[in-house]
Amino acid sequence: MVRRVSFIPVIIKSKAPPHPVRSNATVQEIVDFVDPDSVLSHVQRLQDFVSRYSTFDSCFAAANWIAEKFNDYGCDSIFIQNHTVGHAPNVIGVKRGQVHPDSIYVVVCGHFDATSDQAPWIAPGADDNASGTAMAIEAARIMQNYDFEYSIRFIGFSGEEWGLYGSDYYAQGARLHGDSILAVFNADMIGYADIVPETVEVIAKIDGPACGPLADFFIAAADTYTTLLTHKVMTPWMPYSDHAPFWDYGYQALCNIEDFPVMNPYYHLTSDTIGAGYNDNDFCTEVIKAHVAALSLKAVPYDVGVSEYTDDKQLDPVLKISPTVAHFYVQIMLPTSKGKSVDIYDASGALVRSFNCAAVQSDGIRWYGDDNTGQMVPAGVYFVRVATQQETQTAKVILVK
Ligand SMILES: [Zn+2]
Repeated sequence: MVRRVSFIPVIIKSKAPPHPVRSNATVQEIVDFVDPDSVLSHVQRLQDFVSRYSTFDSCFAAANWIAEKFNDYGCDSIFIQNHTVGHAPNVIGVKRGQVHPDSIYVVVCGHFDATSDQAPWIAPGADDNASGTAMAIEAARIMQNYDFEYSIRFIGFSGEEWGLYGSDYYAQGARLHGDSILAVFNADMIGYADIVPETVEVIAKIDGPACGPLADFFIAAADTYTTLLTHKVMTPWMPYSDHAPFWDYGYQALCNIEDFPVMNPYYHLTSDTIGAGYNDNDFCTEVIKAHVAALSLKAVPYDVGVSEYTDDKQLDPVLKISPTVAHFYVQIMLPTSKGKSVDIYDASGALVRSFNCAAVQSDGIRWYGDDNTGQMVPAGVYFVRVATQQETQTAKVILVK
């Protein structure tokens, strides 16, 4: 028997996310911070570059401005990603998750390059696509004051109007590096209403990968936290924006657009400006709110603090400390129920160590006093939390060195 071995990571089908049918007060609070004046100011500033044609100087200037905004809004790191000679780079702002590694993240993106009938000199692209870029910027602005379990990447792509150059480069790299992307939320043209109220198209791939569950998740988030009207569009293929390369490389992605096919009469003209091609800032704001809700739910707001001991009726005693002469470790006996996780917090409630308990030995796991980066933690009080699908149990450990 011959088996093919590949070192390119395989994307395993992810299970459908639970739908956010019950309102989460933290998520609602985050969503409510999205501000129409702030959104409009981002669109205006991007339009003021006059041309964001991908190979034109002012598009490079726009990339720098976006990077500055991601920096101002508290991103932990910002990457300027060159993808094609002569083109402005992609701009990636990373907000690091508090629990999970950098390679597991959620993407919110829009292309910032533009085109028109007078390119390269004039291409204001207010609707196409300062609106979607404003989404990534506004999301960064709002979310800087909150922590999440998973990382978030706010991305402005370039080279889109030339054939998705920037996003194709990014998605291919993500696949080769084995990045686990929980979801990609792309917006391209979300500021023009041909009728009021406008309904946003939520475009999802039927299969390969199946994005229907992600579309349902997004729509449930929109319904729960915003007044946005949505229209789900399931398609075998829609290659006209930056979600498409993510589909190519097996990632779940959605595209939001005001109308598909395009109804904006100012599309790819020098009149794609605020008041003409971009005529409904409230609609744009509402689309951004829906994305911030979906992003927050996907990234999971991080609750600082340690649960107190809850209920020992169903769980066996779980914790046994086993010091030895030459070494020490904490032996954590695990309950037999499924879906176990073990997390260790310090006295301030910060997570220091997580264990993957998918395949544990019958004698449980051992904690040697190291954190998630392999460093030894200082002496002090720690809380070991063992959670199952039914309940959690927390015990206090004092490390003495
Ligand atoms: Zn576009």
